[in-house]
Amino acid sequence: MSGTMMDFPLTLVAVLERVGKYFGKIEVVSRRPDRSLHRTTYAQVYRRARALAQALQHAGLGHGDRVATLCWNHAEHLEAYFAVPCAGGVLHTLNLRLSPGELSYIVRHAGDKFLIIDDVLFPIYEKMRGEVSFERVWVVPTISSTTPAGCENYEQLITTARGEFQYPALNENDPAAMCYTSGTTGPPKGVLYSHRSLVLHTLAIGMADTFDLRQRDVLLPVVPMFHANAWGLPFLAAMVGAKLVFPGPHYDPASLLELMAGEQVTFAAGVPTVWMGVLEALEKNPGRWKLAADLRLGIGGAAPPEALIRALDSLGLRTMHSWGMTELTPVGTAGTLKSYMLDWPDDEKYAVKRLQGLPLPFVEVRAVSEQGEVPWDGESVGELQVRGPFVAASYYNLPEAADRWTNDGWFRTGDVAAIDPEGYIKIADRTKDLIKSGGEWISSVDLESALMGHPAVKEAAVIAVAHPKWLERPLAVVVCKDGWTISAEDLRAFLGWKFAKWQIPDAVEFVEALPRTSVGKFKKSELRERYQNWKWK
Ligand code: ADP
Repeated sequence: MSGTMMDFPLTLVAVLERVGKYFGKIEVVSRRPDRSLHRTTYAQVYRRARALAQALQHAGLGHGDRVATLCWNHAEHLEAYFAVPCAGGVLHTLNLRLSPGELSYIVRHAGDKFLIIDDVLFPIYEKMRGEVSFERVWVVPTISSTTPAGCENYEQLITTARGEFQYPALNENDPAAMCYTSGTTGPPKGVLYSHRSLVLHTLAIGMADTFDLRQRDVLLPVVPMFHANAWGLPFLAAMVGAKLVFPGPHYDPASLLELMAGEQVTFAAGVPTVWMGVLEALEKNPGRWKLAADLRLGIGGAAPPEALIRALDSLGLRTMHSWGMTELTPVGTAGTLKSYMLDWPDDEKYAVKRLQGLPLPFVEVRAVSEQGEVPWDGESVGELQVRGPFVAASYYNLPEAADRWTNDGWFRTGDVAAIDPEGYIKIADRTKDLIKSGGEWISSVDLESALMGHPAVKEAAVIAVAHPKWLERPLAVVVCKDGWTISAEDLRAFLGWKFAKWQIPDAVEFVEALPRTSVGKFKKSELRERYQNWKWK
């Protein structure tokens, strides 16, 4: 016997139709490269997304064909986010910060048919042109209306649509979007999202205990739309009808703050380094930007130091911490406090807030060590494994990476974590960042969080460096705040309050800046390379 309910497919068509029908008057604002603000509405985005869908079909887009985008966050990228999947294609967002070699590999591996690219990003395409063969390339005129030779104008493509667009018949398990994870270990790996996974993820991240997004909110995805669906936020904003504000190519703290104040943004999401920069700007210029009273900040993608969460809080900026991965569409957890924790002393509350949180509904987690699943005691660590309806079941066309899934169907995240008795996850490290000293394991994440809690420290990363006696020892690489200095000895003494002697980095290197990954996280692989021949004194 089955239930007697309709078998209604979970597709992005329903999200696009909803925003078009109910939220047409709501604005979508995009900052252009020349810093001007381009204003449109969901009514226009809806009309143009359907026109784009039809035009792409006329251009020969078949079921499952990949359409690559190389774009900043803006309204036209939002059009493609909906048009391509709703036309039966696969939206393949390309990370514009990758090298031409990496991009060419990814484009060829994905078999991309078409490309939509910003005029200002055209030089990236020119560098890989000889290595890839798109059938057609459309250029989005964000500052210039001239189209380079051999390419076509995106605006003209949209005008080729005629009459009413008919959605193709779509199954909820059809492919809708695709994103490659960075290739720090092995080649870049493609994750192919289905309509169903995107819809369920959108519902899960919109919940009150996740991002709590409402129609009346104004959402600024600082996270790039070229990586991991910008945490699914463009789909969420459209589903609830919240005003969207896009930064275009302007990611510096002052530009973000000006946009947040000017548009009265109420929810903005980015990696910790973004909020570190914003915090510094706010502290240097008190009262300069009048931010919305109910502004919340989504923070994730890397572990935020507790000091950052506290400092933002003290300025009235509430953070929502979450953990995720490209393979999870990408949000997997959210760090809300439970009702009975709200009365706890501050220190205890922050100890929970800096954890990575509870799994979203339908996401199951376990931590597994060589001895098997570890108990949920908040201390025993193992590899974090997950499963659920918006977790990848394999990589696209990469059978050699099948070992990232266990025989009993869990995805091996490559993160090392403990789970506490309340179910909160604590990411201690990525497997590849682990420091194993004399057989004992040291959490670089804990050390970094503590170091960034010192008033003189702006940024810190702790890496493992080979050691003749202990095999590996931690080395701290630290950036001081402007106008501050501190000695390595004083920093080590500061850590001595919290850590056992053998856990404390033996040396501290002071540098001007830490290297960043393509999405703004600290790039520890580069630091490990830089210090591989380090001589311990
Ligand atoms: P990459 O950073 O390799 O390009 P992802 O964007 O998919 O790929 O990053 C996923 C990884 O980022 C996770 O496996 C985890 O190590 C790290 N990460 C994400 N969110 C958090 C968080 N809140 N705290 C600690 N680490 C995080």
